[in-house]
Amino acid sequence: MLQIENKDRFAKIIAEALAKIELTVTDAGMKKRWINAIAKATAEIEENGVFMTYQEDDHSLIIWSQKSNKIYSANGHCQCRAFEQGSPCFHRAAARLVRLYMEPESVTVGTVEAKEIPYLKNTKEPIRVEKYGSVRLPIYN
Ligand SMILES: [Zn+2]
Repeated sequence: MLQIENKDRFAKIIAEALAKIELTVTDAGMKKRWINAIAKATAEIEENGVFMTYQEDDHSLIIWSQKSNKIYSANGHCQCRAFEQGSPCFHRAAARLVRLYMEPESVTVGTVEAKEIPYLKNTKEPIRVEKYGSVRLPIYN
């Protein structure tokens, strides 16, 4: 069972994950798929965290999928069809988010310069606010 108690910290990790995609993924289609995977992961963690377990020893996230009735063990890899096809899946996205959330020393949230990241630019009004589960992130142009 996985429960996110520190929502502020979780929101920062999601923002950081989106920023990393923005900075490191150049292919537009792949970028979109990863962003969707992160959005789905956020919602799944919040709604179905009861079916997830974080394994500290190998940093994997065990996810019991209600939909397929399969159990996935995700860290850098996964057992689902999307992963087989080389696509981003929410299992891997969720595993990374949870790992960063669980290990405060493994990541320094806020190391990326906000001005480099379209999502986090703070110079003008956000063009819209996107919801990732219950987390709201302002999107800037
Ligand atoms: Zn997967």
